[in-house]
Parts: sequence; structure tokens; C-alpha cells
Amino acid sequence: MSYTILVFVKQVPDTQNITGEAMKPDGTVNRSALPAIFNPEDLNALELALELKDRYGAKVVVGTMGPPTAVEVLRNAMFCGADECVLLTDRTFAGADTLATSYALSCCVKKIGSYDLVLCGRQAIDGDTAQVGPQLAEKLGIPQIGYVEDVVDVSSKKIVAKRTIEGGYEILECPLPALLTVVDANEPRPMAARRIMKYKRARTRSELVREHADANYTDAEVLVAEEESLQRKGLLIQEWSADDVDADHDRIGLAGSPTKVKQIQNVVLTAGEAKQIEPSDTGVNALIHELIADHTLG
Ligand SMILES: Cc1cc2nc3c(=O)[nH]c(=O)nc-3n(C[C@H](O)[C@H](O)[C@H](O)COP(=O)(O)OP(=O)(O)OC[C@H]3O[C@@H](n4cnc5c(N)ncnc54)[C@H](O)[C@@H]3O)c2cc1C
Repeated sequence: MSYTILVFVKQVPDTQNITGEAMKPDGTVNRSALPAIFNPEDLNALELALELKDRYGAKVVVGTMGPPTAVEVLRNAMFCGADECVLLTDRTFAGADTLATSYALSCCVKKIGSYDLVLCGRQAIDGDTAQVGPQLAEKLGIPQIGYVEDVVDVSSKKIVAKRTIEGGYEILECPLPALLTVVDANEPRPMAARRIMKYKRARTRSELVREHADANYTDAEVLVAEEESLQRKGLLIQEWSADDVDADHDRIGLAGSPTKVKQIQNVVLTAGEAKQIEPSDTGVNALIHELIADHTLG
């Protein structure tokens, strides 16, 4: 049996490389000043999907909701082994909190139709809530296993997964279709040179339109022919708007988001706030006494 595995991935600002320009004067994140990367645990989710494809046979479909530039993470997913990709993009998706994001993703899943597994990273490194995966499972009405390290077995009706818990692990079994959120427990495979050569030409329709406009091509028939040719070669990245996935406009973007991020503060620790302790029993004891004295411990 061959499975259909959907993997949701997010393009995030690289929070490892925060600089002074990372924050706008109004306290919101200046995304244009930070390099955009593939959310790390989403690479683990993709790797798990590709391992299942290697073991059992599967079609791996990767989706993201984001601005048109988020198509880069989809091309990267194709370079690693994804079979098909979907970009969910529309101005009306902007400003989504986790409720609105998971709702939009659930509409995307419903449009895709039949599937056996949905994989998400445990957490995105920008919003850091770890809510989208579990909320998506709720909205789809399917069981979920969080903090998955590995899949022990999959059969036509159920999945057995190993998940991280404090101090150890659990083996859980649940019926399919199911959603798993995946932790940083595998080694994502590198992009394959052969696939880069093939999929570097993968495009969304909007990208084709932009390229034609930049080259001053005006022939609409050429555009249609090119789009059909990409489709035949498996190089057309689907691009869906809110209406394409039949989303209720009151439940997406800012309109559908009860959470408001009022301010983000850039906390920079100065040298005066750091304290070095001697790497010995005496040093550790002194530190513990100090922490007990100022009620940090005890
Ligand atoms: C600093 C900051 C604070 C925020 N605080 C809140 C808050 O308190 N409450 C709130 O509701 N929202 C908050 N947001 C907004 C939140 O980041 C977005 O709603 C975001 O789209 C989803 O939340 P997350 O990044 O926490 O994802 P998580 O729930 O951490 O993501 C888990 C997984 O879901 C999948 N996923 C998440 N987003 C997408 C996507 N766009 N496309 C495809 N897959 C995806 C990925 O597999 C990801 O690994 C905040 C954003 C920022 C930048």
C-alpha cells in the first residue's frame, strides 16, 4: 500500500541571527532584515515523511501558508524529495494567529482530499507556540500524537509512533488518518544534486507571470503553454488563494485572529548581568547558596 503524507512547513526568520534591525520602531518583527529559513523542526517532519516513503512507498505533499516568497521552502522540499507542493498565499491570510493559521491549513487539507498522515514540526522558531499542529488535528477531527521522534510501524489502518516524554519515551498507537508533530530527533537529508537540477525550474503560476512581465513578454498563449508544460513535468507548484480552498474570510488572517501581539521586546543582556563561577565544587556550592539567599531556589 502506498500512503499520502502531507507535511506542513513554515518559512521563518532566522532567529539565530538577530541584529539591531530585527525590530521595527513599533516593536514588531522586521522580517525583511532577517534571513528567511526553513523552520528547523519542519525539516525533521519532512525527513520523517521521506523515511516513510523509502520504507513503505508514499506520495509526499508539502504545503505552506505564507507570502509568495515562501515558495523557496517548497522548492527546497522538492530538492530533498517532496513529490508535490502547495503554496497557500493570499493577502487575506496575513496577520494570522494560530487559530486562523490552523483553520487555513485545514481548508488546504480538505481541498487536497484524501490523505493518511499529516506531519507538522512541533514548533516554529518565530511564533514558538507549538499550537498549530494540535489545532489542525482538532479541526480535521483526526487523532494526533505530539513530540514524535520516530515511526515504529504503519499499516493500512494504524500507526505506531515513538514520542519523547520527560525522562524517556512512549510508544503510542492510533488509527489513520492521524497527525504527528515531529521533534528534532532525526538527521534531515541534504538536498540531492540530481533533484536540484530538475526542480530548480519548479514555479508557481505567479512566478511565471512575473518572469514574463520582467522579460516584456505579452503573449498569453505562451504563458499558458509554459504552465501546461511545467504541469506535465511535475514542476508546477500549486498556488491556492483563500477562495481556492473555500475559506471563510471571517476565520482567516487578522479578521479571524483573536490574539494580538502588542509588542515584542529585544532583550540584550549586558556583560554586567553575566557572572562567572569557578568550575569546581566550591564554585557551584557558592552559587547555590547565593541562589537560595535571593530566593531564586528553595
Ligand atoms: C513573536 C511572535 C509571537 C506570537 N505570539 C502568538 C501568540 O501568542 N498566539 C498566537 O496565536 N499567535 C502568535 N503569533 C503568531 C504566530 O506565529 C502565527 O500565528 C503563526 O502562523 C503560527 O504560530 P507559530 O509560529 O507559533 O507556529 P507553531 O504552532 O509553533 O508551529 C507548529 C508547526 O505548525 C506548522 N505551521 C505553522 N505555521 C505554518 C504555516 N504558516 N504554514 C505551514 N505550516 C505551518 C509547522 O509545521 C510548524 O512547525 C506570534 C508571532 C510572533 C512572531
